[in-house]
Amino acid sequence: MSKADEYLKQIDTLDKLKQAAIDELKGIIAEAEEKLAKLGVGVGGKRTGIKRPRDPNKKCPICGELGHDGRFHRSDKVKKKKVS
Ligand SMILES: [Zn+2]
Repeated sequence: MSKADEYLKQIDTLDKLKQAAIDELKGIIAEAEEKLAKLGVGVGGKRTGIKRPRDPNKKCPICGELGHDGRFHRSDKVKKKKVS
C-alpha cells in the first residue's frame, strides 16, 4: 500500500470514528431529551424543538414510542444519511 493510500485509509477511519463518536453523543442527548419529554419537561434549544407533548398517549409514528412525535427523529434521518 502506498503512503497516499495509507493516508487516505487513515483519514477514512478517523472520519468514521468521529462520526461514530458524534452519533454516540447524539444518542445520549436524544435519550435524555426523550426522558425529559416523558416527564413533561420541554427541552430548550433549537435541536429538536420538543415541547410538552400534546397527547402523551399518542404513539410516535416512526418508532412507536410514547412521549414524542415524528419531529423527534429528524436528526436520526440526517444521521443515517451520513453513516451510509
Ligand atoms: Zn419516536
